[in-house]
Amino acid sequence: MIPAAFDYHRPGTLDEAVKLLSSYGDQGKVLSGGMSLLPSLKLRLGSYAHLVDIGRIPGLDYIKEEGGFLRIGALTRQSTLERSDLIRTKYPILADAVSLIADPLVRNRGTLGGNIANGDPGNDQPAIALAVGATLVARGPKGERSIAANQFYKGLYETALARNEILTEIRIPLPAARSGGAYAKLKRKTGDFAVAAAAVQLTLNAKGAVDRAGIALTNAALTPVEASDAAKFLIGKMPDDKTIAEAAKLAAAKSAPGADRRGSVEYKKDMARVMVTRALRKAVQRAGGK
Ligand code: FAD
Repeated sequence: MIPAAFDYHRPGTLDEAVKLLSSYGDQGKVLSGGMSLLPSLKLRLGSYAHLVDIGRIPGLDYIKEEGGFLRIGALTRQSTLERSDLIRTKYPILADAVSLIADPLVRNRGTLGGNIANGDPGNDQPAIALAVGATLVARGPKGERSIAANQFYKGLYETALARNEILTEIRIPLPAARSGGAYAKLKRKTGDFAVAAAAVQLTLNAKGAVDRAGIALTNAALTPVEASDAAKFLIGKMPDDKTIAEAAKLAAAKSAPGADRRGSVEYKKDMARVMVTRALRKAVQRAGGK
């Protein structure tokens, strides 16, 4: 289908983009890589009179460690993350997920900021943002503000961002020693969204017990799901098979998926449990545990 008509704007700076969005209100929409927005316009799931393309605003495409954080600019493309040595060697939770997102064509256009800001529970990177305790930095008419990832998702396609705010940076705390992360995803075929997927980031203490844990689920409800009960359960415990199995059960109990062509509610909940188990085991291994 052909999308409804819109005016296309290509601001050169963030301030200009924010001004445009402020003047168009509900009729304005940020366009980044277009890999979610354009299909939804073509399917007429939404229409906006003004698209504000932020794709060529300079200074929003970077991956760097600075000030205690891994800082990733919102316009960083999935393919850039995929090729980054820093991500591959130090942030395996991100590396696990990126090559499972869509296909190479989509990853060449889609941005991390778009994936996080889209508000689709099927997107893979929001669960990672929750598990690692990311901070999301946004720019609006009043300047910059930081939003904790666990305060960001409000409903289906609904985030804490106002219509005239632009996500500019994703900040991930630098992992402490003996930390490990992993993302496990079950999908039916390349290019498909998850049947179930889990993000886990944890830190072990000197004895090998869990010191800090973050667990979150993709495509398990209308928003990404933070499994905080399961994460709390792990604290202070040795992450052996029994503990991991119990934590995975607690995490899956938090999921509330809908039945669709990817499976029944029962199947998806059980696959969430399996994905948490796999991600936990890998994260423990990567943290130097057994
Ligand atoms: P756009 O499509 O440009 O924007 C998406 C939404 O976010 C829009 O509402 C837009 O207004 C808003 N937005 C974008 N950037 C910002 C910003 N910086 N600030 C504020 N708002 C912003 N994703 C997965 O995670 N896993 C998958 O398996 C997967 N499979 C896919 C398969 C196909 C065939 C396709 C077409 C897409 C798939 N996607 C998948 C979605 C893809 O990853 C999108 O690229 C991503 O969700 C959006 O990034 P984008 O830069 O293209 O954003």
